[in-house]
Amino acid sequence: MSATVLDGKSLAQQIRAEIGDQVADFTRKGGAIPCLAAVLVGEDPGSQVYVRNKEKACARAGMKSLLHLLPAETTTGELLDLVARLNADRSVHGILVQLPLPSQIDGTRVLDAVDPLKDVDAFHPENVGRIVQGRPRYLPCTPHGIRELLLRNRIPVAGQNVTVVGRSDIVGKPMAIMLMQRSEGANATVTVCHSRTKDLPAVTRQADVLVVAIGKPKFITAAMVKPGAVVIDVGINRTDEGLVGDVDFESVKRVAGQITPVPGGVGPLTIAMLLHNTLAAARLQSAEAP
Ligand code: NDP
Repeated sequence: MSATVLDGKSLAQQIRAEIGDQVADFTRKGGAIPCLAAVLVGEDPGSQVYVRNKEKACARAGMKSLLHLLPAETTTGELLDLVARLNADRSVHGILVQLPLPSQIDGTRVLDAVDPLKDVDAFHPENVGRIVQGRPRYLPCTPHGIRELLLRNRIPVAGQNVTVVGRSDIVGKPMAIMLMQRSEGANATVTVCHSRTKDLPAVTRQADVLVVAIGKPKFITAAMVKPGAVVIDVGINRTDEGLVGDVDFESVKRVAGQITPVPGGVGPLTIAMLLHNTLAAARLQSAEAP
């Protein structure tokens, strides 16, 4: 048996085209052109690629994007000043502070300073709290992309054993919370694993749907996967053989029922959902305008 490969790249293109149509409709009816301000501190090559891809995707969807490039030695105070200016700028609807930030910057203070209405990454505690309570304003882009991938491929999660490996604030934790909600594309029985989980393979083998976000190249092997399971690989690891996921794709695809590739799986969907949130932010801010 060989798993069906879930093509995140073409699904992301489809979602981006839908968002492009929605942007055209919104602006035709008098809405402002949605504008995303990205802030990049330092010269991390991975972050530069992400930010450039986000800029290109905005332009293709008919949105504006502004890039603020700050030197690696920027202080927390300087970054807070920029965030305050972007919060006050009514032509900016979404603010994205690219992570990771250099170690001298207090990242929590900076992310907490972003206006929750402009927080298109959904990292602000107010937005996280709303997600936990099942009344989200924005969903974080990577888990949101995975939700769309599951929904649009008609992969049921309600009542299923879904295991999320990784508990970061960006991926694992919000993913688990979203999957356990009483809502469409959720109602799963969720297990969360992390570096302290005992006998990880015994837990992952119970999963009907396995979401892996740990940042360890090819860590999940065939022996850790239930035959026929759906395997979602969030990992992006730069290795000598190029970009690889957290899942050993070649061995796991012989056991799994469906699997996402790296690249071309979850990554492109993350950017598509950032555009979704930027349009949502423009709509919300135009609704709140005096
Ligand atoms: P973090 O480093 O913030 O979190 C990693 C998580 O994995 C932690 O909860 C950690 O456990 C857990 N973990 C680490 N090692 C093991 C192990 N051996 N067994 C079980 N759990 C383990 O990572 P992120 O969530 O930010 O990112 C994860 C991966 O996803 C990275 O490769 C990243 O590049 C990628 N990524 C991809 C995105 C996309 O768009 N496709 C978007 C964001 C991230 P503990 O908490 O105990 O330390």
